[in-house]
Amino acid sequence: MKRIVVTGAGGFIAGHLARRLKDMGHYVRAVDKKPLTEWYQVHGDIDNLVLDLNVKENCYTAVNGFNEVFNLAADMGGMGFIENNKAECMLSVLINTHMLMASRDLGVERFFYASSACVYNGEKQTGPDNPGLKEEDAYPALAEDGYGWEKLFSERMCRHFMEDYGITTRVARFHNVYGPFGTYDGGREKAPAAMCRKIIEGELYGKDEIVIWGDGEQTRSFMYIDDCVDGILKIMYSNIEEPINLGSDEMVSINQLVDIVEDIAGYKLTRKYDPDAPKGVRGRNSDNTLIEKYLGWAPGYPLVDGMKKTYDWIKAEMVNNKK
Ligand code: NAD
Repeated sequence: MKRIVVTGAGGFIAGHLARRLKDMGHYVRAVDKKPLTEWYQVHGDIDNLVLDLNVKENCYTAVNGFNEVFNLAADMGGMGFIENNKAECMLSVLINTHMLMASRDLGVERFFYASSACVYNGEKQTGPDNPGLKEEDAYPALAEDGYGWEKLFSERMCRHFMEDYGITTRVARFHNVYGPFGTYDGGREKAPAAMCRKIIEGELYGKDEIVIWGDGEQTRSFMYIDDCVDGILKIMYSNIEEPINLGSDEMVSINQLVDIVEDIAGYKLTRKYDPDAPKGVRGRNSDNTLIEKYLGWAPGYPLVDGMKKTYDWIKAEMVNNKK
């Protein structure tokens, strides 16, 4: 049994991760800056702490007496959020800086950092038929402005803390993650949850139109949350010292994603395209050659199955909130 800190645990991915680590028999401390009432999942058998990890002293409080850290706390959201809040996204560098310093000074043995496909060079993502981004495509650097540059810088901090101070760090570049217990409204939601919400709104409130950002032909891959948690654990306890992709390689266009959700819902809406909305890069996919080589594994949960689970959860939430 290890003593493990999970940051950002009031959010989507780390909420699932904290549960899994607890079920594996570890003593888990979950940390987030949001009040407990706003956490997506609050586990009663976990040590839950509300702390702002931008503040250095709070990182020392969070880590003291623990062996391992999974650092997932970040100010982030979907394209709509990161394109309009670049400075706020970059301030997450304080979390990673202070968490690394606290981990180094308090003898943490292993440190996981959640990076992102937004570190990749934009010039490699100009066409919708992207064959998949390889890890080397992060350099020469031309990351997503704001959020992506912060992730790239924090990745390098992990590398140099390992080289200079001997703390074992592991870095995964997540490609879009989706599933239950995540954001589906309020402006920080990502495409899978946003599409589910918009189509459920159609069903519940009799709307007949859906607004799609751009022309809907931009492509992405989407990783189901169970694959993400499996991958985080495999990478954390591996010998992989370089940042590595953790993403699905089942690439679809946003229009195809809407088709999938409409099929699940059995409800179709008229599509209206907004060319001025935030669209992000034109095409993005994960190349999984390296993860398959190192782990003999890659995310493989089918998009249709994951979207059905996500849709059912969001619909139940929206119906309950409507009552
Ligand atoms: P999320 O927004 O649901 O969770 C992040 C949590 O971090 C939030 O609950 C937030 O309150 C917390 N947080 C922010 N600033 C904090 C601070 N100063 N102190 C303490 N807590 C703070 O996001 P998520 O989707 O669960 O993402 C988790 C991690 O994975 C993030 O680092 C994100 O950048 C990365 N990531 C996610 C995706 C994705 O598709 N969801 C893709 C790439 C990378």
